[in-house]
Amino acid sequence: MLIFEDIAPIKEYLFPLKSINQRIGFIPTMGALHKGHLSLIDASRSENEITVCSIYINPTQFNNKADLQNYPRVLQHDIKMLQDAGCDILFAPDDQVMYKEKAIIDLKFGPLESLMEGKYRNGHFNGVGLIICKLFHIINPNTAYFGQKDLQQFIIIRQLIKDLAFDVNLCCLPIVREPDGLAMSSRNARLNKDDRKISGIFYKALNLARIFLLEHNNIEKTEQQVKNLFEKYPAIHLEYFEVRDSETLEPVNNIENHQQISLFIAGYIGDIRLIDNIYLFS
Ligand code: AMP
Repeated sequence: MLIFEDIAPIKEYLFPLKSINQRIGFIPTMGALHKGHLSLIDASRSENEITVCSIYINPTQFNNKADLQNYPRVLQHDIKMLQDAGCDILFAPDDQVMYKEKAIIDLKFGPLESLMEGKYRNGHFNGVGLIICKLFHIINPNTAYFGQKDLQQFIIIRQLIKDLAFDVNLCCLPIVREPDGLAMSSRNARLNKDDRKISGIFYKALNLARIFLLEHNNIEKTEQQVKNLFEKYPAIHLEYFEVRDSETLEPVNNIENHQQISLFIAGYIGDIRLIDNIYLFS
């Protein structure tokens, strides 16, 4: 696997390959890789001649300084995982490379960001949009691979690609989970033993809500079911549970009026924030 830390050399390497129609698949990550990330690498490898993964902990998408400081950094371990997974190229820049000068652009995503992650993490999607634009300009991939784990992020990136006419296909892949249902996440490594034991509750809550909603078609009562469940877990702070159209993120009043609906959840165990979502109709 080739490793690049700077922009010019990776561009110089990829440009001639693209011009002889080698397809480039790209997986942007923040490292501390797990099987969820590897599923994206696998998908890219099956569809492209060249797979590029980036590892960069993007400071502009963190609204919480402690979260940025505590974010796991295990680059040597990640390199080994990527080599074993057959990734061709790693792009691992530092802040000096990615933000030589402070960006002053401010990306707004209107109704797509005024809720859920955008509501609770002020400025988060500006940071995500900014780094994705930069990375897409540098890598110029044919297809970029993302996880359903960050579905709101995927919808926002899809909008960004449309609005700014990027010539990149986007692919959204299913959430890879631990045996108890906990969605794999780099932040899970920070959960202590006791917290890890109860962290499966997020997925349990989503499934309970799904069954209840399909049976009763009543959003308020479904929300109440979820709240009742979390009352039994005082160590967990439920931040939001929302039922939204999977394409537009519009609120849902009646499940019969939508083709696909997603149930979203976010909360804290101690100072560790976890998110998850499932589709209503699978
Ligand atoms: P991150 O490193 O957390 O920024 O994630 C990089 C990419 O991996 C994003 O597109 C995530 O949605 C995706 N991802 C993270 N966790 C999972 C998972 N458990 N299953 C599938 N994809 C995931």
